[in-house]
Amino acid sequence: MRIVLLGPPGSGKGTIAKIIEELYCVPAITTGDMLRDAAERGTSLGRTAKLYMDRGELVPDELVISLVRERLSMSDSANGFVLDGYPRSVRQAEALDEILLSTGKKLDCVLSVELEDDVIVKRLSARRSCPKCGAVYNLMNKPPSKHGTCDVCGSTLVQRNDDKPEVIRRRLDVYREKTQLLLDWYSAKGEVKKIRGDLPLEQLPSKIRKTLEL
Ligand code: AMP
Repeated sequence: MRIVLLGPPGSGKGTIAKIIEELYCVPAITTGDMLRDAAERGTSLGRTAKLYMDRGELVPDELVISLVRERLSMSDSANGFVLDGYPRSVRQAEALDEILLSTGKKLDCVLSVELEDDVIVKRLSARRSCPKCGAVYNLMNKPPSKHGTCDVCGSTLVQRNDDKPEVIRRRLDVYREKTQLLLDWYSAKGEVKKIRGDLPLEQLPSKIRKTLEL
C-alpha cells in the first residue's frame, strides 16, 4: 500500500498514519517529525526549517522534497508507506510522482482527513508532547496520568511552538491557501477517498480498512 494522507493540521492524520502502519505493515513517514528532529539536532536543514515552522509557514519545497526522496530510497519503504504531512503543495506532489515513477511505482490512494477549523483549534491548543520520546497527549481526551509528565518516560511535557493559538490560525490559513489545491489536483486524477477525523479511536481501524479497500 502506498498512501498519502491529506488534511489540515490537527485533523488526526498522525493517529490514522499509526493505524495504517500497523494494519498494512508499512512505515509512517511524517515530515513534520523529521523536520522537528532535524531542528532538535541542530543540523543545517533543521535550523533553516525551524525558522519557517515556528511561524506556521511551509518549509521550502526543495528542502522537503530532498528529505522525502532520501527517506523513500530506504529499504523499509520499498513495499509501501503512508506519507503524513507530505505533499503540501502541488510541486511536492509532482516530485512524489516523479520519485515513484523512477522506480515503476504509483500511489494506491490519497486519504483526505476532514475536520472543521473550530474543532481543530481546540484540539491543537490542548496538545502536549514529550520532547524526549515523542509521545503525544491531549488535555481534552488523552491526558497523561500525572499532570505535565510523560507516562512513557517521565519527562516534562511541552506545547509545540506552533500549537500556540495564533500560529495554529496561520497554519490553517496556509493549509487553505496551498494544500487545499492538492485535493483538487488529486481529485482530478480520481485518487481521493475521505474519512472523518473525529471518529472514536476504537472504530478507526475498521473504518480505515473499509475506506481504503472499497
Ligand atoms: P505538522 O507536524 O505536519 O503539522 O508540520 C509542522 C510544520 O512542519 C509545518 O507547519 C511546516 O512548517 C513543516 N512541514 C511539515 N511537512 C511539510 C511539508 N511537506 N512541506 C513544507 N513544510 C512542512
